[in-house]
Amino acid sequence: MTFSVKSGGLHRRAQLTRQIHDLEAEIILQTQEAGKLAYAAHCAGLPGGAELQAVMKQLDTLHGQLSACRQELDVLRGLLVCSACGASNDPANLYCGTCGKALSQPGG
Ligand SMILES: [Zn+2]
Repeated sequence: MTFSVKSGGLHRRAQLTRQIHDLEAEIILQTQEAGKLAYAAHCAGLPGGAELQAVMKQLDTLHGQLSACRQELDVLRGLLVCSACGASNDPANLYCGTCGKALSQPGG
């Protein structure tokens, strides 16, 4: 891979930072919505219905997008993302500080 991290990197970082902010705000809203639906179901003596499941699914997607954005941002910051557990590591590290798996250096 020969694409440069530097060219456009700053712009992409700003974009990701904004996207992460938006996703976090959306996750808070959806979590509140899920809580309301769960409580309404509780009050009605019902298990969480399809509506709640839909919100939960959306939350899964949002959390997935958020962690993808965070990982990309970490890579742009020069951090090594562990391929096993997704934790960000200092590029000087040979092994993941979270799971202990050997880290592959970018470009080799
Ligand atoms: Zn790891």
